[in-house]
This record gives sequence, structure tokens and C-alpha cells, in this order.
Amino acid sequence: MGAAMDKFESEHSQPISWHRVLQAVRRYGPLARVDLGSILELSPATISSITGDLLREGYIREVADSDLHGVESGRGRGRPKVLIELAPDAACMIAVKLSINRIEVARGDFAGGVGPVTSRSLNTLELSGAALIAALGDLIAAEIAAIPASVGRIIGIGIAVQGLIHKTETLVWSPALSLRNFNIAAPLAARFGRPVIAMNDADCIALAIQQRGDLQPVENLAVVMLGTGVGMGLILGGKLHAASSGAGAEFGHTKYQIDGPLCHCGRRGCIESFVGDYALYRDARSMLDLPNTDALHPSEEQMQALVDLAESGHNVAVSLFKQAGRALGYGLSNLIALISPDLILITGSGVRGYRQMEPEMRRALDEALVDTLLAQTEIRPYPWDEDLTLRGIVLQVLEVGT
Ligand SMILES: [Zn+2]
Repeated sequence: MGAAMDKFESEHSQPISWHRVLQAVRRYGPLARVDLGSILELSPATISSITGDLLREGYIREVADSDLHGVESGRGRGRPKVLIELAPDAACMIAVKLSINRIEVARGDFAGGVGPVTSRSLNTLELSGAALIAALGDLIAAEIAAIPASVGRIIGIGIAVQGLIHKTETLVWSPALSLRNFNIAAPLAARFGRPVIAMNDADCIALAIQQRGDLQPVENLAVVMLGTGVGMGLILGGKLHAASSGAGAEFGHTKYQIDGPLCHCGRRGCIESFVGDYALYRDARSMLDLPNTDALHPSEEQMQALVDLAESGHNVAVSLFKQAGRALGYGLSNLIALISPDLILITGSGVRGYRQMEPEMRRALDEALVDTLLAQTEIRPYPWDEDLTLRGIVLQVLEVGT
């Protein structure tokens, strides 16, 4: 696909480009040409010409509507409709998720799908820069070695990380690492000869949810991630928000209480220092006889046990989740007052405690905001799915690389 790929890349800054068509098919496909035309506001002739080129080059393929919905659905309607979808093997990318004590790697396909995940446990906080790059590099190399010959070129490598990332390459700070201001992308780009981008994990999740197709499209969406930390991915005007510094939306480190509890970031009284898993577990341990944990990272079982305790009506556990709900509610009220998102989704592994937090969260929102402001924004939980992070980084690499 060499020469064709050059065309493919050079086209992508043009107004009516292959890029736009591919993005739309990735997001809404499989779909009929006529529907693609109305989404992109392009004439049938233009759509027909571009899709003809893309079909010839192997980036998209045709599927009969009846193939998708069973033969029965085609009966009595004359000729089955022809839909187009992306050819998953036209190209691929390598997706990496770096979190506390764990690295996960998978191959992403051209349609945005994620293949089987390989993971490795290691003490991430002890890693030197060279050791981190070596660990990531070995996993990426193994994933690349396993790509079948039938799959097209590798577009790039994407790394989703918890923490603050500057210009998609420098890890300014991450709770998973002791390293600071470390360029994670350049050494991997040099080793593999492919573009490498790093991205905040909450941003990845917001992107994956926005493009998943199970939501009504909204212009302004905030995805709040509850878990070990508290993160947020923010989509404004349909696009992922990223400050020029590279910082995303550090919702977890907005303040709830001056001189409050110590936060992972080293400051006091952040929303996260009430709502993060480590904060809830730390406070619970100070009052209840609970097993020790490596202080950074209570396990899923330990957190679920705390939620179960609250669900059973245990006073201490109930009041901890109430307090967390209150901090979350005040944090959300500031977010709504500042930018009035159309929709706020609460997700992440910490959504397990949402039911325990919600009544107090709603009460705090009612206290903090006038009704007219509150009415602008819908807030609801979104089921947590571990795969969203890898899915999001795959979409981002495809977005910038094709
Ligand atoms: Zn903080």
C-alpha cells in the first residue's frame, strides 16, 4: 500500500478528505453511502467517488445489510442494502496502558477494535527511566512480532497513563511512577521507528465513550473517573479539551476543604482526598479493623468489601460514602457553574460506590447551585468497563495517524 498510503496521508488536510470519511465510518459504521453523505453533508457523487477510492485501496469493505442482521431481515424487501465499514486489517496500532504496578498491551485494528490484552505486573514506582522504557519496549516488541502478515502497516503506538502529560510525550507527573518530567515517547519512537503518543487515561476514556455510539451525541461532555484517583476527561464543542500545557482537566485536585486530608498530589483537601479509593480506605482503616494494604492501592476486593459494609448499613462505612458524595457533589457544582456540560457521566472502578454516594451528592448540588443552572446538566453513572482506556488510546492514534 506504499504509494497509496502517501496519497492517503497527503489528503488528510484537505477539506473533503479520505480522513473525514474514514472517521465517520469508524464512528457510525456500518452504514449506507446515503447516510454517510448526510452525516458529512457531501453529495452522492462525491461520496461515491471517495468510497470507490477507499474500497480499491482496501481501507473499507462492503457488507450486505442481511449479513449483519441475519438473512430473515432481508426477506421481502427486495435487494439487501449495501453498507460500508472499515476493513479492520487495513492497518493497525499498538495500544499500551500504564497504571500503578501494571502494564497492559494490545493490538488495535483499523476499525478501532482492541485485540487480546497481554499484561505484566511490576513495581512501577521503583522503575528508572531506562527500566520503564525497556519494560514497555519488550512488551511492544512482542506484540509487534505477533502481527500476522495479512495486517497492513503499523500506524503508531499509543500509551494511556494516569497523570499529567505534556504535549503527548512528557510524563510530568504520574501516581504510577516516581519519575518526573520524563519523555516516554521519544525513546520508544526511536526504537520502533513509529510515531508514539502518550495520553491521560481519563481523556482516553472520555474519547472512547464519546465515540462508542451508545450515547446521544452531546457537544459538552464531562466523564468523571472514580478509582484509585479521581480524574476527568472533558469534551468541549465535540473535541477533547487539552490545555496548551498538556494538562487535561484535573477535577480530582480541585479543592473541597482548605487544610483538609492529604492528597496523593501532596496538597490538602482535594476532592480526591475524600473520594479516591485510597482516601476512602485510609479513612475507613482509621476507624475500623480492616486489613492493611500497600497504602497507595487498596485492592478491588478491599474496596468492594467497604461498599458492601455501607450497603449493609454499617454506620462508619455509610458516613464515609456520604462524606465522599458530598465532596463529589460540591466538585460537580463548581464544574457545572463554570462550563455547564450537557452531560456528566460518573464512571471508573469507583462507580461501585456510586449508589452510596449519590443521595448526598445530589443534596450538595442542590445546596450549591441555583435550580436554573442545575437543570442544564444531566448527571448519571456509566457502567465501568476496563477496556475503555485501551479503546480510547486506539481511537486517538487512529485519529492523529490516519
Ligand atoms: Zn490533590
